[in-house]
Amino acid sequence: MAAEEVVLRRLKTSKDIGKFMSDYYHELDAASKSGKQKIAWCTSVGPAEILRGMGFLIYFPETHSAMLGSTRMATELIPKANAIGYSPEICSYLTADIGAFLQGVTPLSKAFPGIESIPGCDVLVYNTNQCRDVQDWFAWYSRKFGVPSVGIETHRNVGTVTDTHVSSIVGQMESLVEPLEKIAGRRLDMDELKHAVALSRQCSDLWEEVLATAAAVPSPLTFFDGTTLMGPAVVGRGTQKAIDVYKLLLEELNERIAQGVGAIGEEKYRIYWDGMPVWGRLGPHSKLFAGLKANVIASTYCSSWIFSALDPEKPMESMARAYTELFIVRSDEYKENYIKGKLELFHCDGIIYHDAKTCPNNSNCRYGLPQRLQAQTNIPALMINGDLNDLRLLSDEQTKTNIEAFIEQLEESKA
Ligand code: SF4
Repeated sequence: MAAEEVVLRRLKTSKDIGKFMSDYYHELDAASKSGKQKIAWCTSVGPAEILRGMGFLIYFPETHSAMLGSTRMATELIPKANAIGYSPEICSYLTADIGAFLQGVTPLSKAFPGIESIPGCDVLVYNTNQCRDVQDWFAWYSRKFGVPSVGIETHRNVGTVTDTHVSSIVGQMESLVEPLEKIAGRRLDMDELKHAVALSRQCSDLWEEVLATAAAVPSPLTFFDGTTLMGPAVVGRGTQKAIDVYKLLLEELNERIAQGVGAIGEEKYRIYWDGMPVWGRLGPHSKLFAGLKANVIASTYCSSWIFSALDPEKPMESMARAYTELFIVRSDEYKENYIKGKLELFHCDGIIYHDAKTCPNNSNCRYGLPQRLQAQTNIPALMINGDLNDLRLLSDEQTKTNIEAFIEQLEESKA
């Protein structure tokens, strides 16, 4: 199909999401310049609610690094971090972000006029629930800025989340409070913490509803839309503004469903995506699939910011549970069952696994999972080699050829 025939229907609410992100970064920038409010850097699934309960503004370096990827700045910056000893084999969020710092550049200045640099940092707070790379990433900044890096070391490869897992994380969270209070210059307010947990839970529920709209046929949403729409769920959880913007988004998606309007021109094939997006190829990939009448409708990735266990009445315990129940933390057996359920829920014809070279933590095709799942479901699967940020690690031609062949296979299996 010729490129001009590809129909991608943009959501009106993406403008509101863009405004949300602009306000978020400008607020951080103003606080950084005035020094009037403390800023904590936090991992994307770190204990943000505790930080909100002490009045910190929160900056998430992973979101910044995703922007380095989507603006295609990352690939040239990664070697700067390689040159100081951070291997090209490790997380390309880490290497791109440190590379950008060393080079003194940021995509924020182009995206949000008036912002010249990333915000200042009073403390770094991590949770290794996703990987060890975040701990090493934050340790580098900790040494650079001369500020503490504190965090939680989570169990990994977890099958059933037990009370033992939860209580050990609660203990670690509680031990963060005193050092963080010293930096914040104030006490943790339990009411503020509960309020932040309640807001996070509402945000999570709305985000879950947003993603669930993709079960409609045709789907009003694509995975590629989801990767940018998820901004407020990552950086704004624990705030009312994130809830407000997701209510608007949900309304628009439900309108689309009521009118039978899909996100792409014609949806003949429905595909599930496992793993990270290729940030520097969001546009080309969304066009490639739409041109093949295939909609990538749902993913393990965008669902990573659903925290259904959060409960304001049990803030610490429910945070410990929610941040351990995450897909990325779990065993392959759990992941297999999880994906199987999603393939049914979203009526998928096929599944694509992105084997991201520098993120083994979010690549689920290295220990036989796709083969086991295909044997159970009979749903065709494709593995593509690539990376989240380092564009030297993928071949566009090979990816295109493999995806086209995969869609042909789906055509045959439907027939
Ligand atoms: S989960 Fe992957 S992409 Fe995210 S910080 Fe860890 S290694 Fe990097």
